Amino acid sequence: MPAAGSGQRFGQEIPKQYMPLAGRTVIECSLEPFVADPRCTAIVVAICAADGRFADLQVAGEAKLSTVAGGAQRADSVLAALESMQAPDDEWVLVHDAARPCVSQAEIDALLEAAGVGEDGALLAVPLADTLKREAAGRVCETPSRDSLWRALTPQMFRLGDLRAALRAARAAGRSATDEAQALEWQGRQPRLVAGSALNLKITTAADLQLAAAILSQRGERR
Ligand code: C5P
Repeated sequence: MPAAGSGQRFGQEIPKQYMPLAGRTVIECSLEPFVADPRCTAIVVAICAADGRFADLQVAGEAKLSTVAGGAQRADSVLAALESMQAPDDEWVLVHDAARPCVSQAEIDALLEAAGVGEDGALLAVPLADTLKREAAGRVCETPSRDSLWRALTPQMFRLGDLRAALRAARAAGRSATDEAQALEWQGRQPRLVAGSALNLKITTAADLQLAAAILSQRGERR
């Protein structure tokens, strides 16, 4: 779980993953389904080297959970976590944003089922509903076609050895993937798209936090 972002877009002093949500914090909500799932045998959370908050959370005491220092970019944080894992190369690994507290059990189950088909892994995603506009100096300069476009969510799921090799190769080439699938794509792989839910939002603004609170409360904190 990459959780080493400073959340500059969020505009708060507290990084977004530590904002209060549903009686706990955003990151605790994001970790919950994986902590509870016996299929998930180890969790590595990449936190900022200067993080003074994670260790104080109740979840930090979970036996299967450990932390590593994250890096400057999301891909560096994910790679740092993978480098610390002792599992065999063909073990499956899921990468999930600390800032996505509303992932459902149904989504995780669908991802696990799809990733097992083939060798290129899979990611949750949602087909694009809105029309896209490209901006230049405050004006529309292009309307790219939304055909076949999806929004990539997390979790994303790959063989540990494949993802580690892809992220190492990207770093060596001076490229930083904005999601894990992209690093695999640069290796010529074609991860499967698994339809996720628009409710699996990423906390980016204060409004997202309000939406997440409404989603979790409506779900009665069941997933
Ligand atoms: O910045 P953004 O919201 O896209 O970040 C997605 C996830 O990646 C967040 O959980 C954030 O904490 C994490 N991240 C990280 N290391 C970075 C930047 C972001 O672990 N250097």
